[in-house]
Amino acid sequence: MPEIIDGNLIAKQIHAELKAKLEKFGGKRKPCVAFIRVGEDPASVSYVKKKARVAQEIGIDSRLHLLPESVSQGELENIIDTLNADDCVDAILIQAPLPKHLSEREAFNRVRPDKDVDGFSCANLGLLCQEDSSAFVACTPAGILEMIKRSGVETSGKRAVIIGRSIIVGKPLALLLSKRGVDATVTVCHSKSENLGQVCSQADILIAAVGRPATVTADMVKEGACVIDVGINRVPCASTKTGYKLVGDVDFEQVAPKCGKITPVPGGVGPMTVAMLMKNTVAAYERHMPESASK
Ligand code: NAD
Repeated sequence: MPEIIDGNLIAKQIHAELKAKLEKFGGKRKPCVAFIRVGEDPASVSYVKKKARVAQEIGIDSRLHLLPESVSQGELENIIDTLNADDCVDAILIQAPLPKHLSEREAFNRVRPDKDVDGFSCANLGLLCQEDSSAFVACTPAGILEMIKRSGVETSGKRAVIIGRSIIVGKPLALLLSKRGVDATVTVCHSKSENLGQVCSQADILIAAVGRPATVTADMVKEGACVIDVGINRVPCASTKTGYKLVGDVDFEQVAPKCGKITPVPGGVGPMTVAMLMKNTVAAYERHMPESASK
């Protein structure tokens, strides 16, 4: 049977490391992350709650700015500008997706790069491209690399195939896995890729970030590969209270027996994303309060 990479366990280790680090700081104030949430999308409500709860456990303050679904781009940017100028705010997170009438790209780029703990601004994506270690790296790709490293998966010279080319997952992950020191040979696939199964079957590390259940089937997976499932999909399920359950993009039952290591959904990449947000927030605080951090 494959090794199940336990994202909850690794995330808890990271939380404990961050908490211990913060306890040593003698700062005049705690780190602070500001969440901006627009509307009442149930998934966004639950993600922001979870992030705020973990922040509190670690010793990070959080603020929630709730904006109505009808908010204009200008009003949203005014809030971002206010938070950019607030010396007590280290980190700003705009919970995606935003309603269709708003430009996510403009909002992400409006966040001051040293507070952009999501790493979606062109400034931080550019720094990542330049392999500059001061870049805030998007939390999901950073979490995937961290769990790969902490699980002892070899990356150097190995073939990594990423399914999905989004700014949130696929693109920054391709940069991370191919950078010096990680040294994987990376292929990015997407909705127009031909022979997807054949390309995937050559991967030592296969990462699925599509948003469609059972995109990865057993015939697409090389024997002994490490499979990372980023997808979060709600599928109907009569035996749960909610009437649905969460599954990833990988047909776990069929694929797992072929893998060396595999992540579950839930409990795989999701908790790592939150852990990396906390890590980036602490790093932003260290930049803003260097005298506290060095105590
Ligand atoms: P997206 O919709 O922006 O991108 C999906 C990508 O999949 C696109 O690049 C598209 O070209 C590709 N694609 C679509 N159909 C395909 C097909 N048939 N074959 C090959 N490629 C195909 O989505 P995203 O924001 O990157 O998220 C992807 C999934 O990951 C979603 O389920 C999302 O909920 C999940 N996600 C999870 C976390 C986490 O923390 N676990 C974080 C971010 C996203």
